[in-house]
Amino acid sequence: MEQVFETENNLVEVLNFFKQYSTKYFNTECCGFLGKRGDKFVGQMVDNRSPEPDLYFCVDPIDFVKFSENHDVIAIFHSHINNGAIFSEEDKNASESICIPYLLYSIMEKKFVFYIPENHEVDVKILDKVKGLI
Ligand SMILES: [Zn+2]
Repeated sequence: MEQVFETENNLVEVLNFFKQYSTKYFNTECCGFLGKRGDKFVGQMVDNRSPEPDLYFCVDPIDFVKFSENHDVIAIFHSHINNGAIFSEEDKNASESICIPYLLYSIMEKKFVFYIPENHEVDVKILDKVKGLI
């Protein structure tokens, strides 16, 4: 399955892409980025570098830098495979420390959740748009 998906201003389709990708590769936590380039919303999946990818995820910083060079980053995405749509303490701490929202999809619950850290630089209107769709 293609790792990059972009649409003209249709965030729902990017969310569907995350859902389909995570469901297809259900043996590991999938991870990637949600961003915007001009008028386009972009979802990009990257390899999970964790030594235990069925338990947690780890993004290669180089993948993140490459994405952020060409996009306004909205959120870091990952899936949960054997647990619900609840952020772990590690997820929340990571989001707070890098000041980037986290978007999570639980395959088990078939549900998205969104975590917004106290400090971030994402346009509030876009965050509201994501919140309104999940
Ligand atoms: Zn998690």
